[in-house]
Amino acid sequence: MAPDETPPAPAAVEPAGTDDLRAALRGLVADPARRPVLVALDFDGTLAPLQDDPEASRVLPEAVEALRGLAARPDLVRLALVSGRPAADLHRLADVPPGTVLIGSHGAERARVAEHGLDRDVLTLTDDQADRLARLGGEMQQVARGRDGVWVETKPAAVVVHTRMADAATGEAAEQEALGVGAHLGSVTLHGKKVVEVSVLEADKGAALVALRTELGAGAVVCAGDDVTDEDAFRALGAGDLTVKVGEGTTAAGYRVPDPEALAGLLAGLAADVAAAAPPPHAAGEADPAREDAPRA
Ligand SMILES: [Mg+2]
Repeated sequence: MAPDETPPAPAAVEPAGTDDLRAALRGLVADPARRPVLVALDFDGTLAPLQDDPEASRVLPEAVEALRGLAARPDLVRLALVSGRPAADLHRLADVPPGTVLIGSHGAERARVAEHGLDRDVLTLTDDQADRLARLGGEMQQVARGRDGVWVETKPAAVVVHTRMADAATGEAAEQEALGVGAHLGSVTLHGKKVVEVSVLEADKGAALVALRTELGAGAVVCAGDDVTDEDAFRALGAGDLTVKVGEGTTAAGYRVPDPEALAGLLAGLAADVAAAAPPPHAAGEADPAREDAPRA
């Protein structure tokens, strides 16, 4: 696909592959009208290979290096991680450069990586939401009780039942029970890969990403993800944006790469293009835009 063409329409079209995506990325960064490009990436299964232990997830070294290069040119590229993880987890586990916006808890949380720490918005729940969150925690513990390999994670606005370590029958039974709990206590229930997440907030990655692009004045968005929640983001973006499914499965994305390693290679290529681009027009010593006008809302 030529860089100035729009990606194929979602549905019924097999996404284009890695070579086409490389060309499309190069074309985006070369087009002054599309700057800055918001590069919004999922963490688990996208930047970081999936792990049985969620605490073991790390961004691939090649991607860490590429993101540093991209962050050096905020006039061309802005970075965001868009994940179901709490923002504090993302900050702890993902080695991303200062200026990166963290959209956590599927869009319910927003924070920004600073030079020494994290600038984060405080998540406030209504009394009803806090009450439902507490009840969700208790009922999900009941779901996990007596089932080997099933465990419960509590997030700032959600409770998650993980079944990756359980045998298939046990996991399936736990997921079905958790979905039932979500139906009566949750605002949004997500059924992902070996995981059921019930949130007490209305939030999704698509709405959060569209809000961020508007705040940043981004000329285009590049969005990559591997799971069902990333499809919300793919569907929310426009024909001039680049959407990338990582791995197998039906998708609304315009492109597909096989795995996080392939995505890291593409990000490295993009970083090389950015490094080769003409320097920004503002003089050396002028304020860095990424440090000044990042959104706080
Ligand atoms: Mg993922």
